Amino acid sequence: MFGKDNNKEGSMHKRESHRGETQKASIYTAGNNSKRNKFFIITLVVILVVVWGGVIYDLGPNFSTSGNDSSKAVQIAKENEKMREKIDNLQTRNRELKDEITALEEKLKDANLPDEDELFVFNDLVKVRDIDPTILVDLCYATKNNFTEQKLYSFELCLLRKSTAEKLAAVQAEVKEDGYRLKIWDAYRPLGVQEKLWEVVSDPIYVADPAVGSNHNRGAAVDVTLVDEKGEELIMPTGFDDFSERASRNYSDLPQEAEKNMNYLTESMVSNGFTPIQSEWWHFNDADIQDYDLLEVSFEEFVEKYFTKN
Ligand SMILES: [Zn+2]
Repeated sequence: MFGKDNNKEGSMHKRESHRGETQKASIYTAGNNSKRNKFFIITLVVILVVVWGGVIYDLGPNFSTSGNDSSKAVQIAKENEKMREKIDNLQTRNRELKDEITALEEKLKDANLPDEDELFVFNDLVKVRDIDPTILVDLCYATKNNFTEQKLYSFELCLLRKSTAEKLAAVQAEVKEDGYRLKIWDAYRPLGVQEKLWEVVSDPIYVADPAVGSNHNRGAAVDVTLVDEKGEELIMPTGFDDFSERASRNYSDLPQEAEKNMNYLTESMVSNGFTPIQSEWWHFNDADIQDYDLLEVSFEEFVEKYFTKN
């Protein structure tokens, strides 16, 4: 029994002792756990610091306000500012140029400059071929091929009053229907030339006295014949400036072809506003001749004005 008690005691002691050891072990274990926890916390903190540092390192440049990056940003800002200024200046210049263009366009309208294709008219005279370029011109007085055998015109310039030239264009349109064309031997004649002609032929039947003046000097008379499609002159009573009686409309012994052609030309001229004369079959006055005064325009003057357009 004792033994049992001892045993019991012993066992109790043992138990106590064991308990004490257990407690000691617990304390020991607790001490170990505490260290482990500290170690764990320190490790965690280190990891966090490392990770946080890494994050800061990665993001750093973007949020950085380091010296270099700051000056770069300032530089970019300055460049942007300069570009904005340039844009502002260009927009201002653009507005100024638009205003200048508008002002110049207004000025151009006011200047009333003649159109390039506008008919040139000087002292009511026009170039016949400016009115109708299909009319042929063969001014005998611009060559030596005339009865004076002198070149009397300084230019081969076929001029007429504007309305006279327009009437002639109407004749041209009409005869063209039959395959013919007008050919002009003489049109406007400056007064200076009239004086030279008078010196050679002082006969008022054929040449007007310059003191009185010819209808050619008015730019309202034309010496004209007809040509066929090949440009060959049609058979007429005579050639140009034939001072024989055959040139007269009263001449009765004409070949039929010549008479027919003369009448054909005359009818078309008369129906379009011209008046024939008795002494020369080729000469026609504008029917409104009374409206036109003698002109003092020289060929040189017309040419100068024509090419300078003023
Ligand atoms: Zn004439």
